[in-house]
Amino acid sequence: VNLEERQAEMKNRKTFRASHMSPATLKYRERRMLDAAKAAKKRRDSESFDPSSYDDVGDDVRLKVLEDWANVLLEPLTYDELQTRRRAFDSVKTRKFPLYVLDKTILTKMRQVPYPCWVCRSRDAVHRHHVVLLKNGGTVAAKSNVVLLCELCHSKIHPWMELNLVKPVTYAEFELVRCQREASVLLDKAARGRFATPEQADAQFSDLLRSVFNALAKK
Ligand SMILES: [Zn+2]
Ligand SMILES: [Zn+2]
Repeated sequence: VNLEERQAEMKNRKTFRASHMSPATLKYRERRMLDAAKAAKKRRDSESFDPSSYDDVGDDVRLKVLEDWANVLLEPLTYDELQTRRRAFDSVKTRKFPLYVLDKTILTKMRQVPYPCWVCRSRDAVHRHHVVLLKNGGTVAAKSNVVLLCELCHSKIHPWMELNLVKPVTYAEFELVRCQREASVLLDKAARGRFATPEQADAQFSDLLRSVFNALAKK
């Protein structure tokens, strides 16, 4: 379904629902549907990421590719949506988090023991990383959206990540620790004038606030 068809469909619905919905509600729904259509389009584009097409470039290039993808925002997820996705990915029923360390069983299942890190190709990969981050609407299980990384390369992509963060805590606690670290990284970046544009700074700070509120709501 392309954008035009979607808009036409929405117009029809608008007429149909006009009798029992306020103009504000209609407008809100209309915007939500347009956003969803745009997100779906962007997602299709992101599925063009092919991990195997970066075999002949240097480590730094591969790292830069992942850093760029980490800034792509498809759709901001609420806490519940995010947690559902994470659970779907990890097939975990408990509230324990994080589980981004690959355990031996999963590795064996994937028949990828030992598997070198996608970026440095030297250390063993023990983390799964989502190319388009889950919190930015990345797909959970699409092969094109998951790469296996070593701890060191993974922590370069997420500035907040410290190696000792890999402990089972609740997801809300994990999010708050992550946000705290990300806040200091962002404030430092702002103080040094390292943001390319004010919009980029705005986007990253609002993303951070969204995560904080999402986590606090569940604490
Ligand atoms: Zn690595
Ligand atoms: Zn990651």
